[in-house]
Amino acid sequence: MVVKYIFVTGGVLSSLGKGITSSSIATLLQHSGYDVSILKIDPYINVDPGTMSPLEHGEVFVTCDGAETDLDIGHYERFLNKDFHKKNNFTTGQIYMSVIDKERKGKYLGKTIQIVPHIVDEIKARIKCAGEESDFLVVELGGTVGDIEGMPYLEAMRQMKHELGNKQVISIHVTLIPLVRAAGELKTKPTQHSVQELRRIGISPQILVARCEKSLDKELKRKLAMSCDVDDDSVIVAEDTESIYKCPLNFLEEGILTPIARYLGLEPLEPKMDNWDMLVKKIIVPKSQISIGFVGKYLSLKESYKSLVESLIHAGANTDTRVNIKWIDSEELEEDITLLYDVDSILIPGGFGERGIKGKLEAIKYARENNIPMLGICLGMQLSLIEFARNVLSIKEADSVEFNPDTKEPVIYLIEDFIDAQGNMQLRTHTSPMGGTMRLGEYECCLKKDTKIYKAYNEQVCVRERHRHRYEANPKYRELFEKNGMIISGESNGLIESIELINHPWFVAVQFHPEFTSRLQRPNPVILEFVKQTLAHKKA
Ligand code: GLN
Repeated sequence: MVVKYIFVTGGVLSSLGKGITSSSIATLLQHSGYDVSILKIDPYINVDPGTMSPLEHGEVFVTCDGAETDLDIGHYERFLNKDFHKKNNFTTGQIYMSVIDKERKGKYLGKTIQIVPHIVDEIKARIKCAGEESDFLVVELGGTVGDIEGMPYLEAMRQMKHELGNKQVISIHVTLIPLVRAAGELKTKPTQHSVQELRRIGISPQILVARCEKSLDKELKRKLAMSCDVDDDSVIVAEDTESIYKCPLNFLEEGILTPIARYLGLEPLEPKMDNWDMLVKKIIVPKSQISIGFVGKYLSLKESYKSLVESLIHAGANTDTRVNIKWIDSEELEEDITLLYDVDSILIPGGFGERGIKGKLEAIKYARENNIPMLGICLGMQLSLIEFARNVLSIKEADSVEFNPDTKEPVIYLIEDFIDAQGNMQLRTHTSPMGGTMRLGEYECCLKKDTKIYKAYNEQVCVRERHRHRYEANPKYRELFEKNGMIISGESNGLIESIELINHPWFVAVQFHPEFTSRLQRPNPVILEFVKQTLAHKKA
């Protein structure tokens, strides 16, 4: 199979939306009937983002095969409605690790190991691996052209183009056209410089995606095309939009598929976007609205909750509802529970460490006692059990060993090894450099019949969802919980995966992260049900 490669680089500054640009292009190709894969390259030295603080990096997205990846992989899955894997994201740390590993094993037969060819060859091999069995591979290079870290990747790109030729490799450069308010003018100079920098190292982008606040007139587009040496139809303007899901539609309107098809020697591309268009309309002008209290602690960087926020948008698009998020800092909630008085439901997301725990427990108690729909995720489930143990079962010392290692009542505890029913160590766990064993990736969860979660999943008995956590609910307390109205509604090889309250309209908490499998065209069932229950509660 001849794979066509579309490289996406960024210029001028970071955060221009290269991930959304790449996802949008991939979506248009996919809707034109092609099999599209993606690759995100992160030039930083960390082996993966797993050890980075959520405030440093934003969310760590977990793939079905248990890789801790960049949050852009989440965008790709959400746009393309498709699972990606470990091979769809790599970092400089991983490249160096494998080259050094081969060197130690003597695989380079005594040669001097250098960036060219060894590092660059490793990069090319991994790019090719990510594209195997696809019609297209969209490769997004993180960072900005000109960064020292990015150089080996640009060299790999240049070499691939040299080896495979113009009909198999194209380059798209995403830049910013800033508006200088004092002069009221859009400025093209930074883009020209950034393209010059690319050309200096032997890459001439064929298509420019120009981010800007307002539209570019024809003359300015022509000026850009002329100065950056691209065809007139290859300057694609990406204005700010109301929803990221509108970007593929905007790109289509701007005609991005014309130059892509021409450069890659394809017949004209005609994507079928009707269903997508309908969902986007429901995001932008929905019939109803609801307000969800999101009790978190990484609120200075909301990117930390990216997948969860997107999953609420998906559920909203599929129920014709605008989901307004009321961001509530759990530490502020400790002082002021009235912050929850005006919300229609409460969401307790995942998290690590002790800070902010008290406020989350307050929120859970409030939802439980006042019949407010509540969804707890991962840490949110663990805290729901602790709250219930303390306030309903009167086990005052109930705690998680994560915050209180010596607790006498470890309702949430640590199990070093995950042993399955046959007594084998389960795969996809790794010993984290931070200590402890993380349970990562997709596992099967068996749902109990006639529970709320079973209904949410359309009465499926077995579902598959993704995990990222170290601690587990302790089965020792199980009976006591169930006798008192908190039932275990989902299990995976004896591990407690979901719980719910019997005497409550909708109080559900899950150990897995449902947000990781939510897509615009296929919202996650638990999150969708949570939004429906919130709507129902609001109406009542
Ligand atoms: N800190 C908890 C654990 O490690 C929960 C993790 C999470 O919410 N993702 O088990």
